[in-house]
Amino acid sequence: MTNPAHPPIPFLDLKKPHQELRNELADAFHAVLDSGWFIQGQQLVEFENEYARYCGSKHCVGVGNGLDALHLILRAYGIGAGDEVIVPSNTYIATWLAASFAGATPVPVEPDANTYNIDPALIEAAITPRTKAIMAVHLYGQAADMNPINALAKKYGLKVIEDAAQAQGARYHGKRAGALGDAAGHSFYPGKNLGALGDAGAITTDDDELAHKLRVLRNYGSQVKYKNEVKGFNSRLDELQAALLRVKLAKLDTWNEQRRKLASVYLNELQGIKDLVLPSAAENNEHVWHVFVVMHPRREALQQHLQAMGIGTVIHYPLPPHLQEAYAELQLGEGSFPISERIHQQVISLPLDPYLGEEQVKQVAAAVRAFAA
Ligand SMILES: *Cc1c(COP(=O)(O)O)cnc(C)c1O
Repeated sequence: MTNPAHPPIPFLDLKKPHQELRNELADAFHAVLDSGWFIQGQQLVEFENEYARYCGSKHCVGVGNGLDALHLILRAYGIGAGDEVIVPSNTYIATWLAASFAGATPVPVEPDANTYNIDPALIEAAITPRTKAIMAVHLYGQAADMNPINALAKKYGLKVIEDAAQAQGARYHGKRAGALGDAAGHSFYPGKNLGALGDAGAITTDDDELAHKLRVLRNYGSQVKYKNEVKGFNSRLDELQAALLRVKLAKLDTWNEQRRKLASVYLNELQGIKDLVLPSAAENNEHVWHVFVVMHPRREALQQHLQAMGIGTVIHYPLPPHLQEAYAELQLGEGSFPISERIHQQVISLPLDPYLGEEQVKQVAAAVRAFAA
């Protein structure tokens, strides 16, 4: 199998979307270059307006990256030392780090085994008098089950924060990710569904006071130059990234539609393969397939088999946050979150991006079937 019958299929090719938009991106670059204004200018204002409208929220506040977006939301709410933030046990570590950087303790809750997202039925048992917020992640491109989460938050007086880093454009009961809680953190890391050409992030919210605090916090705690109200940070979405993101935002719905189409080809082609667990879109959810994740008990062997056929895959993620050295202090040993641990042991993401052809998806599916047969 070392001689693949087709050209290699990389896991993700970030050249193609930018080749298609080459002229528009170059125009955006020149507009910023010629403006002579690079931080907190008109491009940022326009992008914030366009992205807020896209998500269906009142405000958008651009920041330096997705981790800062989540961290600054907690800071702006005054959540910190002595407080607890409920997070999924099954997520990228950034969700936990946001709580830690604010000085709070992340309290993990296991996912629903079908959607991989935090299981609302398990949240109540994790709430203590110190709990201040629930940070729900829309993992892999599908919104978490927000209605029961919002109901619980209301009952206990908690804030609901969405980690929407992987779900730009996803819908839940018709509403977009970013407008499903009190505030949402977005990442425009290049590989996300809406990616900048570098680091960038944003917060969306309907809360006027929160948006104001965030605008101050991202800019040294200052609204008026050299007048500092609070000890702030330097975390800004620069003009260049804002201008480039505006070009790409116009394509997001088309790209997500293509992702959905390719995901349905996979779901069709991968039916009935022994030991292979397929992803599913929950009811009332419009999944945007940031990644197409399957589970297999012999994941490493499957990955090697695909690699030998020239097919790139990625593991999202190999080790859950509670087993990372960075969180040794929490003393959450192996076996403390078995659902997450099993997911982390078995998941493998197959290539899926809007520029992949249907034929390529079928080739990947055939290669998976050949392995499992
Ligand atoms: C990418 C990501 C982040 C962090 O975003 P950055 O822009 O890389 O800081 C946070 N949470 C999740 C779930 C992510 O996938």
